[in-house]
Amino acid sequence: MKKMHNTPLFLANTLLSATLLAACSSSSPTNTQSAKADFEQVYSQISGEELKDFTRTLSSDEFEGRQPTTAGERKTLDYLVSKFKSMGLEPGNGNSYLQPVDLVKIVADSDMTMRVGSQQLEYKENMVASTHREKERVDLKDSELVFVGYGVNAPEYNWNDYEGLDVKGKTVVILVNDPGFENPDSGKFQGKTMTYYGRWSYKYEEASRQGAEAALIVHETAPASYGWTVVANSWSGPQYGLVSEDGGQSRIAVEGWLSLDATKKAFAEAGLDFEQEKAKAIKGPYSKSMGITASVTVNSTIEKSKSHNVIATLPGTSAKDEHIIYSAHWDHLGTDPSKEGDQIYNGARDNATGMASLLSIANAFTKLEKRPARSLSFLVVTAEEQGLLGSKYYAEHPIYPLNKTVANINMDALNLLGKTKDVAVIGFGKSELETYLEKAVTRQGRYLAQEDRPEAGYYYRSDHFSFAKLGVPALYAKGGAIPVDEETAAYRKRANITDRGCYHQVCDEFRESWDFGGIVEDTQMYFEVGYDIAISDDWPKWLPTAEFKRQ
Ligand SMILES: [Zn+2]
Repeated sequence: MKKMHNTPLFLANTLLSATLLAACSSSSPTNTQSAKADFEQVYSQISGEELKDFTRTLSSDEFEGRQPTTAGERKTLDYLVSKFKSMGLEPGNGNSYLQPVDLVKIVADSDMTMRVGSQQLEYKENMVASTHREKERVDLKDSELVFVGYGVNAPEYNWNDYEGLDVKGKTVVILVNDPGFENPDSGKFQGKTMTYYGRWSYKYEEASRQGAEAALIVHETAPASYGWTVVANSWSGPQYGLVSEDGGQSRIAVEGWLSLDATKKAFAEAGLDFEQEKAKAIKGPYSKSMGITASVTVNSTIEKSKSHNVIATLPGTSAKDEHIIYSAHWDHLGTDPSKEGDQIYNGARDNATGMASLLSIANAFTKLEKRPARSLSFLVVTAEEQGLLGSKYYAEHPIYPLNKTVANINMDALNLLGKTKDVAVIGFGKSELETYLEKAVTRQGRYLAQEDRPEAGYYYRSDHFSFAKLGVPALYAKGGAIPVDEETAAYRKRANITDRGCYHQVCDEFRESWDFGGIVEDTQMYFEVGYDIAISDDWPKWLPTAEFKRQ
């Protein structure tokens, strides 16, 4: 991880800081001083014990792994609502703290079939497919295959693989990641750093907008950042979605993946060399009709259920209709009765820690004697693990209009490895929110750094992204990789041994030995960022290099 102080971003930041300071000093000097003392007092009271208590409770076995629509959901909602009430926060949705979210669960049968050219492919061996259409049977017959390179339509990068192409009724074959990945020094896109155009979800969305019938993504380990088994496992269980008015009809009928081997054979059958075609697709916008067809049949069972987001608010004093929204997901993976021994996915780090931080921040804001001008809202969302569904639902059905939502600050799976010298910004260089972050972090004697693996596209993998996608500047940052001192480094080593490999496993459970020092600092940092925006009349903007815009 690199220290990143010498980038142009921070030149811009210096100018912005001046604006920020000007905005803060609009009231009289004595008022400003007492407000500052008030803030500092509350800031210093954010405690590791409180954060630990919230984390311990929310990840206890009693909450059954917090799976949406189970008894674990009820318990989690009750707990969160009772905390918000006792802190004196108002219901965020009229007179309710809950926002209902309708989910649809689609389970594709393992008897699905896929023929590409003359190859009959094997489910999970070299293909997976699913549908988001609420239909028990999806049948694709002799659909023409078109290779569309990266399947990207990005005007800001002057790149459209679909240029001049009519893919109605056709099946598009798409490379994973974006054109910057293979050739980071070419100046294309953002080099190794993945943009949203590199995510599989984008590729299916764009194929749907283009009117294609099906889309098959070519799996390659390096640009996908995970192996074929991850694809095979995560695409074979139930697929969740939001209930839509058109029953998913506006989406492509079949969303699938092909293994690299099956792809190479299909290209060969079409008289094409995969590597050569890929090289052309890296160079510039590219498409090529393959002259062969695909047939796919997917049978599914469809089940609808209701889950909930939780939302509480602390109204501002003068700019009540302008909101800063803190978010964290409450859901995790539930319990697995077929497992020997421990069956509960407690999700302590993922994401009891994020909720704990959000609750502590909410509590801190209620303790301020002088409340900020803008409103602070606390959104705890469902079904993040199923594809950011709760936050997506909120962003598409916002309770507070998005054009009055100044910023989103998201907390997911916080740092339990002790205090750090650096703060990792996931999706570094996207918005002016980083100016506020840098001020808060600098006061703590820390510095901003880029995340560890920007090519993995983590910015698109948690709930802030649902806000970003619809134009609301969104921040996702947490303690980085450099321990603050030798003692912490030693602790970090020990903790790494017990916690390694616990991501999405039953061993992601609460440990009394956890050092919450890093989470305390991060929580203070989130509190300060939200506070500074809430007392100003600034509207932080996306930076020109970001792929998002206010709508
Ligand atoms: Zn997770």
